[in-house]
Amino acid sequence: MTVENPIKNSNTTIQFYAGLKTIGGTIFEIKYKDERFIADFGMIFQNKEGVQLRPQTTISELQAIGVIPPISGVLKTDEIDENVTIAISHLHLDHIGLLQYVHPDVPIIMSEGSKTLYEHLHTIGEEPNVDVERQVKSVPYHQPILVSEHIQVEFFPVNHDAPGASAMRIITPDTTIVYTGDVRLHEADIDTANLPKVAGSPDLLIIETTNVQEEFLDVNPVIPSEKDVLIQALLKIDTPIVFNIYHRNIKRLEILIEAARQKEKLIVFEPETAYLVQAFQMEAPHVRFLQVEQSDSRISDLIHTIQPITLAELNRDFSQVWLQSSYHHITTLQQLPVKGATYVHSNGVPLGSFDPVYNELLEWIDKLEMELVVLGVSGHAAAAQIKWLADSMQAKVTIPLHGFTPELLQGPYETFLPETGIIYPIFALIDEKN
Ligand SMILES: [Zn+2]
Repeated sequence: MTVENPIKNSNTTIQFYAGLKTIGGTIFEIKYKDERFIADFGMIFQNKEGVQLRPQTTISELQAIGVIPPISGVLKTDEIDENVTIAISHLHLDHIGLLQYVHPDVPIIMSEGSKTLYEHLHTIGEEPNVDVERQVKSVPYHQPILVSEHIQVEFFPVNHDAPGASAMRIITPDTTIVYTGDVRLHEADIDTANLPKVAGSPDLLIIETTNVQEEFLDVNPVIPSEKDVLIQALLKIDTPIVFNIYHRNIKRLEILIEAARQKEKLIVFEPETAYLVQAFQMEAPHVRFLQVEQSDSRISDLIHTIQPITLAELNRDFSQVWLQSSYHHITTLQQLPVKGATYVHSNGVPLGSFDPVYNELLEWIDKLEMELVVLGVSGHAAAAQIKWLADSMQAKVTIPLHGFTPELLQGPYETFLPETGIIYPIFALIDEKN
């Protein structure tokens, strides 16, 4: 008697819209018959060559210039498909940046931690145009749910620099796919390290490769925790500090508040960030928010448990202060005695030299006579750790994505580099000998 190989009669297909050979947006779709499952919905680029898009740019204009991929049945201007769900791995813009264009009747699912942060971001105006309460549903970890008649998904926690970051396992009647989302592995991490155990060995593993570079594939570094690295480095700085962070990394806020407490400094956040500090209950006596006249008073009005500080007060006490400065607010620094201060770039935007705006930032720091210190901690696992993860998952086929050189990662069995715009039947990806 021969047992039929279910893969051979596969009705499941996979298609990639974004995330190949880039660390920009990720979007891919798994389809079983007419049931559709879309993983992540990231912005492919925010600001191509520094060009600012008009806020009223239409969806079709955005599609014409490639900001929105040619994806049908889910956008506000589309006649929507009944059988489609969008699942979000975590709340970085390269994974959710296009959600604002999604039709309000398309369900969006994410982890509980992600949904909590998403609601707060919505409140401070960062994730507009999505009716969070109606459209976004949270999914508990380790609990398989059916998103349509035949497609099941289960979320698993992973370590990354955003709260609620998740990997997911997608099961259709003929295949099992695991998508890591973005991951890192630190000394004390449990979540990412446990993924092979809890998610098992899939047919297809889709894995991020942000830090995969040839020279690092052999070196398995011990990566200390974000907290250990940053607090020690911050305590060594004796000048006033101006810091640029990405406030979706809630852990980073906690670390900065703790370091400032140990250094006996006031730490001053922009109102949006202070709102998040309050929402995640990290207020402390030495925490303030900057009250600038022209700033959005709507957000200041929502802050009740953190004291404001004015520019005049800041000017007087600047030697005792650590001040947040996002790049889009950098002109505020012209009104403060920042000469001689240390500008701590800690994974804020612009992230690095691959962003054309980064040079402008360097010019500002120079003009304001501050000293630049880059104190970042990557949110992504080292190359050797990604390789360890792929090897441990033992997928029949590994698809590396979300990196500039995904081809450097070889899975334990087959590795496949997909192209955008092609619909791959799963049976075509899984070798017969499997
Ligand atoms: Zn990320």
